[in-house]
Amino acid sequence: MSFSQLGLRAELLSAVTAQRYPSPTPIQARAIPVILKGRDVLAGAQTGTGKTAAFTLPMLQLLSNGSVGAVNGRSPRALVLAPTRELAAQVESAIVTYGKNLQLRSTAIFGGVGINPQKSALQRGIDIVVATPGRLLDLVDQRSIDLSSIKILVLDEADRMLDMGFINDIRRIIKLLPERRQNLLFSATMPRSIAKLADSVLDRPFRFQISPKKSVVQEIQQEVMFVEQAKKRHLLIQIIRENQVDQAIVFMRTKHRANRLAQQLNRARTVSYTHLRAHETLR
Ligand code: AMP
Repeated sequence: MSFSQLGLRAELLSAVTAQRYPSPTPIQARAIPVILKGRDVLAGAQTGTGKTAAFTLPMLQLLSNGSVGAVNGRSPRALVLAPTRELAAQVESAIVTYGKNLQLRSTAIFGGVGINPQKSALQRGIDIVVATPGRLLDLVDQRSIDLSSIKILVLDEADRMLDMGFINDIRRIIKLLPERRQNLLFSATMPRSIAKLADSVLDRPFRFQISPKKSVVQEIQQEVMFVEQAKKRHLLIQIIRENQVDQAIVFMRTKHRANRLAQQLNRARTVSYTHLRAHETLR
């Protein structure tokens, strides 16, 4: 599968070529043609899968060929909601990268910085707004943004937005949008709260789940050793000594065992400094 088979226009293909991506990632191959047809999408996809380009490229195409509203209007026609300012800035920068050969205007809106430059950007006329929910509502309340022309809504990292308590803000924002629009929802996990949100926001969505890219580096050699419970600690110390390991991460099932092993390794003086701790989920 190559990018040229996805139905993207030349201006977008050349921007992708400039990025030297060898081929579309699975989520791009599946989502781009569907979004170009105007369908709603519910995608289970984590960061690192190429999800940003999966919604940005077709969104730019739909906006640029005028199929979703006037090209010269001043009100935004696409809205991307993101949980954090870092993500909002990252998505907006992807829009700039992929849209460099098109005449679309975008801006990122988030809290923690002055509101006036954001107001000025909106006054100049914007096609795509990437925003965190709280600051967007501040601008709505100050009548600095009109969401009545939005034709495409993207909820990026929807599960994180719900975890951060944005559900009421999201519902308020959605009430300000026209009923007829295309909705794209991306979420790393699919808890019940997301299913409920998807039911109320999406219209007969195309659904798919993308498993994260395998993150095992080729250079890492993996080995499994079967050993009795009582001998595990001795074997670990032996491996550390024989291989002169000076940096290692040991994952344990429980916090208690991690603490106990840390003490045992310290006592055995295998390494000058041992710092082990039971991690919560690594995101
Ligand atoms: P994302 O999942 O959107 O956060 O993207 C993760 C990274 O993958 C970004 O740095 C993109 O530049 C990169 N990327 C996006 N699409 C592709 C592709 N088709 N091939 C290789 N890298 C890509």
